[in-house]
Amino acid sequence: MKIIFLGAPGAGKGTQAAIVSQKLSIPTISTGEIIRESVRNETPLGKTAKELIEKGELVPDNLVIELVRNRISQDDCKNGFILDGFPRTIEQAKALSEMGVDIDAVVNIFVSDADIIRRMGGRRTCSKCSATYHTLYNPSAKGECCEKCGEKLSVRADDSPETVKKRLEVYHRQTQPLEDYYNDLGKLVTVVGQEKLEDTTRLTLEALKVND
Ligand code: ADP
Ligand code: ZN
Repeated sequence: MKIIFLGAPGAGKGTQAAIVSQKLSIPTISTGEIIRESVRNETPLGKTAKELIEKGELVPDNLVIELVRNRISQDDCKNGFILDGFPRTIEQAKALSEMGVDIDAVVNIFVSDADIIRRMGGRRTCSKCSATYHTLYNPSAKGECCEKCGEKLSVRADDSPETVKKRLEVYHRQTQPLEDYYNDLGKLVTVVGQEKLEDTTRLTLEALKVND
């Protein structure tokens, strides 16, 4: 299957994508993660992206499109993949379609802006293995450390309240038009994000018609 997860920053796309990815044994491609890794490794892409990410703005379409084009041509994507955080603009969606990628479903996880702003304060991530947690909704069994690899958890630089507001504004302006785009293609399924992560997972699997 080829699946896209759509949703505002902090709506829980990444978490749900990781679960579905394991269930279907297909890789998740998170453009945000790949870009953050490029920033850490100071690659040319990382150098362009650093300031933009910190301001809550998008990385230029052409760079992200090339990154995805390369990634999905790799062997592990043969049987399908999940896209988390791509496409984020109509331009990117068109490029994906021009790559000949036939998407099965677009899962749109809906969470209100007020809830997102409330939730983001509790978000924690592992800079080593990219696992994500939430102090209230999805705490690590190892408290302040990653339960998978033991690394000390941190708050992402772009999760500060001001940057979150900016990212929401960017989301509504540049990414939300994709809801209509994929709805017109008959691919959009909307899942209302729940307080409990496993409730959102159940609704997501139902929407994808994948057995729990
Ligand atoms: P979230 O979904 O929580 O906003 P991501 O990890 O998906 O976070 O993305 C973090 C940042 O990486 C974005 O704010 C943006 O600057 C950049 N980014 C990720 N994916 C894309 C994309 N498809 N196009 C442009 N920029 C992107
Ligand atoms: Zn970890």
